[in-house]
Amino acid sequence: MFPDHIIFMKHLDRHNFNQELEKKVKKVINDHGLINDHDKVAVALSGGKDSVLTLHILNKIRKESDFNFKLLAIAVDEGIHGYREDGIRSARNNSYKLGVDLYEVSLKNELGFTLDQVAKFYQTACVPCGVFRRYLLNRTAYELGVDKLATGHNLDDEVQSFLMSFARADVRRFGKFGPKQERIHPKMVPRIKPLWLIPEKEVGLWAVSNEVDVHLAECPYAYQSLRSRLKNYLNSLEEERPGTKLNFLKFFQKNLKIGKRDVKLYECQICGQPSSASTCKVCEMSEHIKQEMKLNKEDRENK
Ligand code: SF4
Ligand SMILES: [Zn+2]
Repeated sequence: MFPDHIIFMKHLDRHNFNQELEKKVKKVINDHGLINDHDKVAVALSGGKDSVLTLHILNKIRKESDFNFKLLAIAVDEGIHGYREDGIRSARNNSYKLGVDLYEVSLKNELGFTLDQVAKFYQTACVPCGVFRRYLLNRTAYELGVDKLATGHNLDDEVQSFLMSFARADVRRFGKFGPKQERIHPKMVPRIKPLWLIPEKEVGLWAVSNEVDVHLAECPYAYQSLRSRLKNYLNSLEEERPGTKLNFLKFFQKNLKIGKRDVKLYECQICGQPSSASTCKVCEMSEHIKQEMKLNKEDRENK
């Protein structure tokens, strides 16, 4: 459920609130050149509030403004039992309601296993989940001839990601931040983040005040993640000192080279997808998973 302050804000002037949101999204699109005329844009649609807002707002901009671009959606089913089914249902409902084509891909069909089956081989399920989801989203978008892949990353997500990279001393990831990625490989579809300036609280408020069908449950693996701990920490900081999250974002924007990655990509020798090494992370992890599954099976048979 949403926190009390969001339920209270349900009674705001919805029309003005929606307009303000749209204004912020248009500002990011215009200031950073997120979308060009005739682009084919795919929304990575999980069915959660952020991706659903991204779909609705891009659809509205597409219909009402001079922007002339095509819109579709891609949903990835990671295979998280008791959780992802509802997200997919919401993704289907929203795409259908807006008349946007939805393409669904699943880990099970594409890679031969579900996240539930392989989570135990990793310290946190979020590691394989992130790697496989990004891979399937990019591959599907590329195969569909998509020019930009729009994700539902909001201001909170971006600040959390920055701090996670700091915490891991992973400076290579700084280039992944910012509302738009440059194309760094012919098979790598550039990502855009139309909600870059929208705080998560406002996304929740939008969903409630407009009574949109969104998937609200938290992933059963979320408690394992560093992101979830950082999120709680940032929320308490923001409560004490409003504006902290936006200040973080402004600081990073001014001081880091965002949106530009100095990484050279090749094609994976196994699957042909973009990779920073001769074998991509997905093929490497899939091999590891196959071995682990085989060992598990042998263990069971020997008991
Ligand atoms: S919380 Fe982790 S496991 Fe769950 S959907 Fe997000 S990345 Fe995947
Ligand atoms: Zn590969």
